[in-house]
Amino acid sequence: SWHKVREKLKGEVGEVEYRTWLRQIVLGPIEDGELILYLPTRFLRDWVRSQYEERLQTLWRTERADVQGIELQVKRGLPEVPPSADIASDSVVEEVTAQVAVSHEVRSDLAVPLDPRFSFDSFVVGKPNEFAYACARRVAEKPSSPGFNPLFLYGGVGLGKTHLMHAIGSELTKTGNVSVAYMSAEKFMYRFIAAIRSQSTMEFKEQLRSVDVLMIDDLQFLIGKDNTQEEFFHTFNALVDAGRQIIVSADKSPSDLSGLEDRLRTRLGCGMVADIHATTFELRISILEAKAKASGTHVPSKVLEYLAHKITTNVRELEGALNRLIAHADLVGRPVTLDTTQDVLKDMLKAHDRRVTIEEIQRKVAEHWNIRLTDMSSARRARAVARPRQVAMFLAKQLTSRSLPEIGRKFGNRDHTTVMHAVNRVAELMEQDTSFAEDVELMRRMLEG
Ligand code: ADP
Ligand code: MG
Repeated sequence: SWHKVREKLKGEVGEVEYRTWLRQIVLGPIEDGELILYLPTRFLRDWVRSQYEERLQTLWRTERADVQGIELQVKRGLPEVPPSADIASDSVVEEVTAQVAVSHEVRSDLAVPLDPRFSFDSFVVGKPNEFAYACARRVAEKPSSPGFNPLFLYGGVGLGKTHLMHAIGSELTKTGNVSVAYMSAEKFMYRFIAAIRSQSTMEFKEQLRSVDVLMIDDLQFLIGKDNTQEEFFHTFNALVDAGRQIIVSADKSPSDLSGLEDRLRTRLGCGMVADIHATTFELRISILEAKAKASGTHVPSKVLEYLAHKITTNVRELEGALNRLIAHADLVGRPVTLDTTQDVLKDMLKAHDRRVTIEEIQRKVAEHWNIRLTDMSSARRARAVARPRQVAMFLAKQLTSRSLPEIGRKFGNRDHTTVMHAVNRVAELMEQDTSFAEDVELMRRMLEG
């Protein structure tokens, strides 16, 4: 498939550009759904990243289902290293100049191809992202409406910012003759620098100012890059004054992006600011269900629950884990089960593991059975509360080295005989009731890793 990707790239960018920048890419392993591509120098790596990363990623993802993303790394000692190309990153600007001048290949198009998989349809909506989603939909329907310009999306890594921006872009280009430019802030900077060095800043500015919708992803990258910020500020003003739509994403809210110029921050906060919150368990389950369904492979709900409990911060990782399971099941021709899941994802989940504490057991069990955490230590004896509490005690005994009295203390100062009774009772119930046993077993695996 490398061959295919290479040929496609060559066809798209042309022989000269291909030879200048892309010829030296060496294929590495796939790790956690990320395909590693090696380049011989930092300079080449940075340049390829800024100019071709999205394209490479899209091509690879289309080519291979098990590739989620790509990661460009520097590896010394690869064949064919040009002797002068090995430079420190702060002289990248100089090097870009030289290279651009040599190749005469400043790409003139601004539009980065949008990934068709990042659509509104494939975006799973839940409490944490419903506001951002609604704002994105609104802007896609009616760009430049008052109050929604600029649209500023922010949130942690892997929560769907880029997805929503691509979705807006695709929707707009589908429905009308709206010109859309999407690029990362990093690419904006590289383009800007390249334009300065090849003395084509006017062209660059004109191009930027001719679009109807400008999207800049990961704006936090411009922190400390004063000249680029300045240029972005002017572009921003020119576009907004001309009634065009700006969409920006970042990892923090405008007011928390210290290191951006004040006047830029102020203007960024002037339109609609939408926060994508961390995912909830429910949202993670919905996302997994949607992705499993789309894959056509049956994944038991226990497995989905396990993943949603284990991988909590980044949807990309969640998706990567699921894809790995599905790829594995396909390959060995056996269904996905909780057992194979643990086995297949062993190394991946290790990073998430810590020693289990009683507090954590209480939290997870309360979450799973939908009771309040405080009820782990409360005196309430209703079955709906008492049973999960007993399960938590049982797991505390199994998974920690705490003594019965110690465990009792953590559960609202209960007596060690109460803990003992709970442990026996749960064991007994597990014998009698297989679905209860499965629930407890799931909890145990989740906590234990
Ligand atoms: P960010 O740009 O915020 O770091 P991305 O937009 O790149 O995150 O999302 C990471 C991955 O997770 C993408 O593959 C994206 O499709 C997926 N993803 C994130 N949120 C959702 C969601 N709500 N529904 C479906 N997929 C999602
Ligand atoms: Mg992103």
